[in-house]
Amino acid sequence: MIDPNGRNITYLRVSVTDRCDFRCVYCMAEDMTFLPKSEVLSLEELDRLCSAFVAKGVKKIRLTGGEPLVRRGIMGLFESLGRHLKNGALEELTLTTNGSQLEKYASELASHGIKRINVSIDTLDSEKFSQITRGGRLDQVKRGLIAATDAGLHIKINTVALKDFNENQFSGLVGWCGKRGYDITFIETMPLGEIDSDRITQYLPVSKVRKILEKDWTLKDNNYNSGGPSRYTSVAETGQYVGFISPLSHNFCATCNRIRVTCTGKLYMCLGQDDNADLRAPLRASEGNELLDNVIDEAIGRKPKSHEFVIEPGNAGPALTRHMSVTGG
Ligand code: SAM
Ligand code: SF4
Repeated sequence: MIDPNGRNITYLRVSVTDRCDFRCVYCMAEDMTFLPKSEVLSLEELDRLCSAFVAKGVKKIRLTGGEPLVRRGIMGLFESLGRHLKNGALEELTLTTNGSQLEKYASELASHGIKRINVSIDTLDSEKFSQITRGGRLDQVKRGLIAATDAGLHIKINTVALKDFNENQFSGLVGWCGKRGYDITFIETMPLGEIDSDRITQYLPVSKVRKILEKDWTLKDNNYNSGGPSRYTSVAETGQYVGFISPLSHNFCATCNRIRVTCTGKLYMCLGQDDNADLRAPLRASEGNELLDNVIDEAIGRKPKSHEFVIEPGNAGPALTRHMSVTGG
């Protein structure tokens, strides 16, 4: 799948549910209305959809959400998609998770061919963790991380940089990750969906995160590319990678190889644009993939050159009305 700007689309992110057991303040409102289950693709449909993309050249699939590990039966989807790893059509199957269910599922994930996972942690202070996730338990997530390491999974921590909330945690997080062999990526808040607070009060550019870290750590730029939008540095003292994702202050669109599918089967060609294509109708219209393939090809032909995010004074509302949990970040 080559888009009009010559980018080869090889990375598919699939939000397998919009539901979550946390309510992170930058991601969701406290009182969320979730989709009726009837609108959500079945696990069999998700498998068919992902497999159609693999047949079209997708090499990496990330399952995300909402929280992917709260979807009932989700191990069945990992298991069935694992067949594409075994036959070499797919190079990587992975997930982004809040870690709350990892203790239960880590070894099963490893048995289905998952090698690396992303786990989101914004602070190592239990009280603050519970505050930012509106009720999440850090000790539970930490147990999940230990189970993941025991199962042989490589861990990357995702930390959203939030002004006046976790600046004093960044250095400690890097040290904590270094000791455990985890990589870490810092992410700027993106203006997706109505939440209960004003985003301009939360926004902290990752350039500032880097400055804060450089007081305690020696960061060296490197050319590592995980196939995602992160720019990586290596920490001289620990050897681990520290990544920075800056969708707002730095445009990473030129090398974008990603597309996203929601749990209702909407294909988004760009995280920062509303244009999408409905894949559920062609998927359900026939057992063969001809209709589906046509809609996918037509949609890839409309992948925009870049997103249009802005967070600035006087323009701090959501640039897009859908929440991150819809397209999965
Ligand atoms: N529930 C899983 C988790 O938290 O890892 C997977 C889905 S979550 C939407 C994926 C990633 O998006 C998380 O690392 C989360 O911190 C991040 N995220 C959510 N809302 C965001 C926003 N508005 N701006 C930037 N990152 C956001
Ligand atoms: Fe749930 Fe992840 Fe969103 Fe937090 S960031 S509310 S864990 S989907």
